Amino acid sequence: MATADFESLVSAVESETPIEFDGLRIDREDDAYTVETSEGTQTGLEEADLQQALEPIAEYVTNWDYWQRSVGGDGTARRAFLRWCERAPLEDDGGNGADTDRPTDEETLAVPARYESLRDGIDREWGQLAITTRFVDVDEHGGERVYDCWHVDDADTDLTDLEVYDDPLDAREIATYDEDGRYRPLKTAPTLVSGWAFTGLSGSELVETVEFFYPATVANWHREQRAALDVDHWFETAERQTGIYDVIDELPREAVDWMAEACCVDSQCLRRREWQYEEDDDLDVDGGDGTFPCREPCSLVVAAARKWTILESEEERHYELELTTSEFNQLAELIDAVAEGRTDEIREADVNDGANRFRARYLRAKRFDEEGSLEARDQRDD
Ligand code: SF4
Repeated sequence: MATADFESLVSAVESETPIEFDGLRIDREDDAYTVETSEGTQTGLEEADLQQALEPIAEYVTNWDYWQRSVGGDGTARRAFLRWCERAPLEDDGGNGADTDRPTDEETLAVPARYESLRDGIDREWGQLAITTRFVDVDEHGGERVYDCWHVDDADTDLTDLEVYDDPLDAREIATYDEDGRYRPLKTAPTLVSGWAFTGLSGSELVETVEFFYPATVANWHREQRAALDVDHWFETAERQTGIYDVIDELPREAVDWMAEACCVDSQCLRRREWQYEEDDDLDVDGGDGTFPCREPCSLVVAAARKWTILESEEERHYELELTTSEFNQLAELIDAVAEGRTDEIREADVNDGANRFRARYLRAKRFDEEGSLEARDQRDD
């Protein structure tokens, strides 16, 4: 155990008993100390005996030192996130009673089990980020932790095959474009490129890195943990829009469901949608399983909603067009392939797939008129 850790704890004990943290309790009554952990209780200790009493439970001491002296920031999102990273129990938020929404299926680790795991590293996933928390060197540096972060797809890739970074700011650059070099307007889309790693980060650097990849996710997750997530539902968001977006509150109720299905499901966005049509009027579409919540319709959805509002204002018509059964089915296959983003995966030789490029070109050659539209008769023209 590092002597400094012990001295800090003893001086904390002198000024603020009882100490109660992560399964360690130290109390003083008159001049006698009690030290209690899940491993046992020692009572009637004099101050001179304290170090000896703490040595067998050094893990609790270095753990206290790391969280109280190195990390600090009681009640902050940064601290809560770092505790989540190593599966430590989440802390109370000062007893305001606002912790009722905390997930109950999270497996947390008490100090001895956590220390065992931190020697090899504790892995968590945050969207497409794989985060490992590990000791620097537990014999030399007590409970000091460092953090590594890379793409979940690179979990089995050797570090020497990855581009290694240590400045959180580099995450912003990595998050800007997808693997085809296209700008990523939605940072929580599951299109983060792989092939990079951040290693040996401090806790603050890790949180900064995560926030460059996924802005505001840590803060919103933390609010949700404390049952303090302020959700702005669709209609109130739509109603307060001005300028060119002023129209989106006219989007029909059922179209908002279709929009959420198009944009907000797990395959398109890693946030878990918590907003609904209105308070007490839930959308039919599931909000997803993301670790971090979405508290309001984002700018991408608002912009798309404007387009859908305009399209939904059009009157429906009946068209008559001639297609074989296979051609009719092919239209569905084409739409599905585009919607699922799999057109790039369809091989040129795979003419069994209705979304094959040659199949699509053939259909266009056969069924489109000279203006490039499907040859169809609008029945209102009859
Ligand atoms: S509104 Fe939908 S697409 Fe936008 S961030 Fe939230 S869940 Fe994702």
